Amino acid sequence: MDCLFCKIIEGKIASSKVYDDKNVFAFKDISPQAPIHYLFVPKNHISSLAQFTDDTMPVMEEIFAAIRNVTKQEGHDKSGFRIAINTGQHGCQTVHHLHVHLLAGKQLGGNFSGL
Ligand code: AMP
Ligand code: ZN
Repeated sequence: MDCLFCKIIEGKIASSKVYDDKNVFAFKDISPQAPIHYLFVPKNHISSLAQFTDDTMPVMEEIFAAIRNVTKQEGHDKSGFRIAINTGQHGCQTVHHLHVHLLAGKQLGGNFSGL
């Protein structure tokens, strides 16, 4: 399967890794929209939140645990942050491997127009 994020997970395309465990990988977004802009992905290919099943639900818990760990470690739990999951055409998803954006490190806008 020709998937950019699968290739990043496999190390075939370089990325700046920020988190790695059994089922979850996270790396810096190549086009950051905030001082901190990371992407958290399941290691197994799931194309989007719309393709989620009960079987794939547990990895979402692991992704949220990873986000909790990273945000705590970097102190964003105190200052605050935003997560976003663009899904499908109307959600402006451009890479079709499920990913959770983590944005932090500055005062973000109070609406979603900048995402
Ligand atoms: P989305 O629009 O939600 O599908 O987000 C895809 C994100 O992937 C965008 O924020 C891109 O900047 C990011 N991106 C695309 N290619 C790469 C790459 N090679 N390494 C890191 N991030 C990437
Ligand atoms: Zn993939």
